[in-house]
Amino acid sequence: MGFFEDTAVKAKDVFDSAVKKTGEAFSVQKTKLNIAGITSQISKEYETLGRLYHDSVKNKADNAVTINAVIGEIEEKQAQIAKLEEEIAAAKNMAVCPACGAKNLNDAQFCSKCGKKLG
Ligand SMILES: [Zn+2]
Repeated sequence: MGFFEDTAVKAKDVFDSAVKKTGEAFSVQKTKLNIAGITSQISKEYETLGRLYHDSVKNKADNAVTINAVIGEIEEKQAQIAKLEEEIAAAKNMAVCPACGAKNLNDAQFCSKCGKKLG
């Protein structure tokens, strides 16, 4: 299997799992809103980090454990965003067949299921 086929299969897998997970049609718009929400949570966590660090320096408080926990939260959310962005990229690579509804890669000329000409 060549690089292109690998990428194509991966795009389809990511797209299918995104659809399965939400149990509804994948929406790029909704996913973008989701990413925006997580991004704003990350901003708040950076703010928290700033406060904790300020407290450590100014009051010599030992906030290391809390700081590490917040950093862990941020990293987890960054991973979530990366995954959602991957789902959007995969969705953009898919074209739905107007005849049978099968998902095909955007640059496919014919539907892989029913053979109808696409695009
Ligand atoms: Zn079709």
